Amino acid sequence: MMQIKGSIGGLERFDSPGKGRGLRVTRPFKVGELLFSSPAYACVLSVKERGCYCEFCFTRKESLARCGKCKKAFYCNAKCQKGDWSFHKLECSAMTAFRENWCPSEISRLVARILAKKKTQKERSGSEKILTIGEMQSHVEDVDNERREMNEAEIAALHRFYSKHLELPDHKDLLTLFSQVACNGFTIEDDELSHLGTAIYPDVALINHSCLPSVIVTYNGTSAEVRAVQDMKPGDEVLISYIDLLYPTDDRNNRLRETYYFTCDCKECKSKSKDNAKLKVRKQSDPIEQDVISNMMRYARKTVREFRALKGIKNILHELLEMCEQSLEEMGAVFDDSNVYMLHMMYQAMGICIHMQDADSAIRYGEKILKPYSQLYPPYSLNVSSMYLKLGRLYMGLERYSMGISAFKKAMTIMEVAHGKDHLYLTELRKDMDFFM
Ligand SMILES: [Zn+2]
Ligand SMILES: [Zn+2]
Ligand SMILES: [Zn+2]
Repeated sequence: MMQIKGSIGGLERFDSPGKGRGLRVTRPFKVGELLFSSPAYACVLSVKERGCYCEFCFTRKESLARCGKCKKAFYCNAKCQKGDWSFHKLECSAMTAFRENWCPSEISRLVARILAKKKTQKERSGSEKILTIGEMQSHVEDVDNERREMNEAEIAALHRFYSKHLELPDHKDLLTLFSQVACNGFTIEDDELSHLGTAIYPDVALINHSCLPSVIVTYNGTSAEVRAVQDMKPGDEVLISYIDLLYPTDDRNNRLRETYYFTCDCKECKSKSKDNAKLKVRKQSDPIEQDVISNMMRYARKTVREFRALKGIKNILHELLEMCEQSLEEMGAVFDDSNVYMLHMMYQAMGICIHMQDADSAIRYGEKILKPYSQLYPPYSLNVSSMYLKLGRLYMGLERYSMGISAFKKAMTIMEVAHGKDHLYLTELRKDMDFFM
């Protein structure tokens, strides 16, 4: 059995019944213990984070040095700039040439980096990793028309923006690669779950899904770290969640089928034990009729989809906020405040209020969200810790220090398990708190 290079041992690859490849532990692991850490095979910083984070190591810093040629990429120092050059050179002159017309998607940018990396690594043996890019699942044959059209557009963009500096493989291989990235790519997020970039971790991609995950993935720079959120005994499969676990069983499985082409059969999907709480209906003296509830469910799902589409196209904050408020009023006639569709729209509204620097309204939404979040998500959830952090920072901004500190402490209880006690996020938080205590 192959061991994962750079790991602390205690893990092996195996054939998981009904799931294909999987990963399991060969020794006990306690809650909060690091199973392994994995450097990114390839990663790319989001365009919107340029200037805030180092393009190479993803360090957040005030004073980053700018690439003198394109003036668009930022680095800690010359060492990071040098380290990134073999990838950045794919974009540096093209960005200058295309100017405002330079607009490849993040996935295209990542694929370009993967291709550049493959080229430099050709001679090296694939056995260094337990899973190579070539081995990753692609599901090319399962891809629906919408996805296929998107992939074709991505490939066209790759030819347009990268062919000058990159020898591109043939169409079929590119389709496979885009499909692989779609189901194996990881979103790198910060402590508030803001999107920082996209990366490939072949070792972490081995881990199968469960709605009752045994581990959580967090990021340290560009590395992924996998920590136990349940006590594990030898032989236990390592399981992460691929999706947001807030939603009821049907929604979760629709999402899994759409993106990953399988249906989950974990304990929670069988028992659906949290579905009733997640779809809680308002208490009234006359119980609300079933078809009124079903209609509202349809309305809620439609609104969630429409809001996502609108958010993607334009950024008219007031219009989006109005949509949140209107749907909350509509749904509020039938759904309890703790219903996940209410929570979804409140979460969106909170984000918009933060953008609009309306801290009081953001706090009002956050306070409503927190309690049901803590009950509906599993015990150690980044969705819950990030909500405590956001709320804590809002309180601090309004000089409500004791409320802020108490929210930070709640966030830290989760983050100490998920991120590890020594993570930069935690040392920074402790420093902030010491200042006010
Ligand atoms: Zn750096
Ligand atoms: Zn440059
Ligand atoms: Zn499940």
